Amino acid sequence: MIGQSSRFETPCTEWHTLDDRYYDAFTVYSEAVIGLMRLTGSAYAQAYERAENAKLAYQQAEDLMRCHEEEHCRPESRTTSTSA
Ligand SMILES: [Zn+2]
Repeated sequence: MIGQSSRFETPCTEWHTLDDRYYDAFTVYSEAVIGLMRLTGSAYAQAYERAENAKLAYQQAEDLMRCHEEEHCRPESRTTSTSA
């Protein structure tokens, strides 16, 4: 039920801020995961924790983004307003 078109119909600045935050957090997570492959021992444990934190951060950002889409700029409200 998730329309891909919703991506293109949420131009508000707050949404973009959330999207940027999500992207940044996801990048940190990706890099941390890639880094894990080369590490062992305590360095691995530290990097693993960092990856887990980054994962939480990007999941939170994703949740905020979804909530914002539903409350503020849901695509449905746009289609109903154009009934001229
Ligand atoms: Zn919005």
